[in-house]
Order: sequence, then C-alpha cells, then structure tokens
Amino acid sequence: MRNLYLDFDGVVCDTIDITYKMLEEMGLDYRDKEICEPFYQKLDWNEVFERCHIINDSINCIQKIIDSGKFNVAFLTHVNSIGEIESKVDFIMRHFPNITIISVPKSISKTQMVNVKDSILIDDYTQNLIEWKQQGGYGIKFDLEMEYKGFPVIDRLDKILTDPSILEDQIIEK
Ligand SMILES: [Mg+2]
Repeated sequence: MRNLYLDFDGVVCDTIDITYKMLEEMGLDYRDKEICEPFYQKLDWNEVFERCHIINDSINCIQKIIDSGKFNVAFLTHVNSIGEIESKVDFIMRHFPNITIISVPKSISKTQMVNVKDSILIDDYTQNLIEWKQQGGYGIKFDLEMEYKGFPVIDRLDKILTDPSILEDQIIEK
C-alpha cells in the first residue's frame, strides 16, 4: 500500500481562516510576521476548534479512503505549539482512533519528518508540495477554487478515489 499523508489546516478544517478572523477581531494584521509568530505560539486551539468548520465532508471522505484499503493514511501537519498538537490530536483521535499523526514544527520541512519517496501528500500549501516532489514524492494540491496549475488539484478528499486520473497523471503503478 502506498503511503498517503494528509495536511490538516485548510484541508480537513478551516482552522487558518479562523485564526485570521481572530487576528482581525484583535485589530491585528495576519500578514505581519512579527505579530503572527507570538500569536500562533500562544493561541488557544480549543477556541479555534470550537469555531472551525469541516471542509467539504473531509471526515467522511477520509473514512472512505481508509475503508478503500488502498493507502496507508496518516496526518502530517505543521504546528506552532504543544497546545496546538494536543488540540489537533484530540480532534483527530475522536474521528480516527487508530491513525498516525505526525506533528511537524513550523520551522522545518514536512519532508524531514517522513520518508517521502513514492509517498503522496495532499496539501493546500504549494511550497510543501514543491519540497515533497523534490524529494521523490507525489503532490496533490487541495484548492477549493480548483484553479491551481502545476500539481493535480482536488477540492474534496475522496476525489482521489472517484477520479483515478488524479493519481494516474503522476503515478505509474509498479
Ligand atoms: Mg494546510
């Protein structure tokens, strides 16, 4: 079975959009890196999870992917704090008690945490996909606008089951 790594923020839940709203409510600019770093380190992720939404039925889609038996599914998510890890693990474990969750410190590449070769990453952040491909993996862009060029693009996670061309474009089964 091929390894399939799933990003969390912006793929499973709209957590980042919620943090931008929280910054806005405090009168802060989400584009200001100096403000954002301490904000994300101290952020109350319980509040984020209370306010966030599941994107395009992602939980059911992930269950379908697991049930297909075609992939070893794990989460590979960037984190800024221990509290963020705790909240994400709590949320994910409630839905998928047996899944692997790999938390990656924001300062390092996702490619440094797992063996990338021939593995698939679904992520909404293009830079992650570029690094993934450079290390011999297969990237799939998650984009609600479906307008992205450069990687195969999906706006629902179960499209990797329902639209085989998404994987066939890159992967020739051995
Ligand atoms: Mg993301």
